[in-house]
Amino acid sequence: MKIEKEAMFYRKLDRDYVKCDLCPHDCQIPDGKVGRCRVRKNEEGTLYSLNYGKITSFALDPIEKKPLYHFYPGSRILSIGSFGCNLTCSFCQNWQIAHREPEATYVTPEQLVQAAQAHKDHIGIAYTYNEPSIWYEFIYETAPLIHAAGMKNVLVTNGFIKEAPLRKLLPHIDAMNIDLKGFTNDFYKDLCGGALTPVKETIETAFKSCHMEITTLLVSESNDSFEEIEGLAKWIGSISREIPLHLSRYFPAYKMELPPTPMNLMKEAETIAKKYLDYVYLGNIAGVDRNTYCPQCREEIVHRDLIIKVQSLDGKKCKKCNKPISIVY
Ligand code: SF4
Repeated sequence: MKIEKEAMFYRKLDRDYVKCDLCPHDCQIPDGKVGRCRVRKNEEGTLYSLNYGKITSFALDPIEKKPLYHFYPGSRILSIGSFGCNLTCSFCQNWQIAHREPEATYVTPEQLVQAAQAHKDHIGIAYTYNEPSIWYEFIYETAPLIHAAGMKNVLVTNGFIKEAPLRKLLPHIDAMNIDLKGFTNDFYKDLCGGALTPVKETIETAFKSCHMEITTLLVSESNDSFEEIEGLAKWIGSISREIPLHLSRYFPAYKMELPPTPMNLMKEAETIAKKYLDYVYLGNIAGVDRNTYCPQCREEIVHRDLIIKVQSLDGKKCKKCNKPISIVY
């Protein structure tokens, strides 16, 4: 399927090279080659997006699966993904679409909006599964149409994007879940092929613009030291104690064969993070308490079990003690 769209955010250089300015990799791409993400190609001095409009995954998911626990709890969202990624995490959970090119269906932004309108009982579109920031042109054209049709746009992203494209997209985005994969540059460099600082900058910028939650996959013996977890939680708390943090348990995937992160470590990590943050949730673990409690009086605000129910919210406040609760609802 050869459908290509001229990319945004690039410059022409000498000798038919182009420089892509979408993500911090700053690829300088010779004619006929692709950048590190494999989905942006230089053809005779023009940079093209190779995954524009190409959908490899489509599902109607609970919003909690993104995970977003403080954004329309109990609702569903149409979740779509394409292919490609600008990071190379050795523990990638979606490597079949992130690092391969599976079968895709082509849709235009208008067709996607029509498909979204045809499905009932959901709040909008989540751009997820593979990395959405390198699906930039398609999302940039689709998101305003989704808004115009009265629906929401959600990004589930690694946050490895440069500031200018991020700021241009943010007015069209209602919520983000950003992966903060670890809290050392070495972890980002050695296991993810990225860098920590640009992701922190994305989190700081996004927090001022839309609803935001953060996910950290705790990988055995790699990013799960108590010092690192404490540093990560403390830093998020310095932006706001109210940012929900999802600590997700690692299981062997893709190239990573280390054993699953021990349960006692997950529990200890939760305890540490709660010193700095009001809402910490464990993920990828059956049977844990997923409810949201008022940080002041411990009233159950959202009950999450087979049925998800907002129980004790009066507008944006706890019904019992009146503490403001950061849930978009
Ligand atoms: S988006 Fe792709 S081509 Fe552009 S700088 Fe990042 S990895 Fe390179």
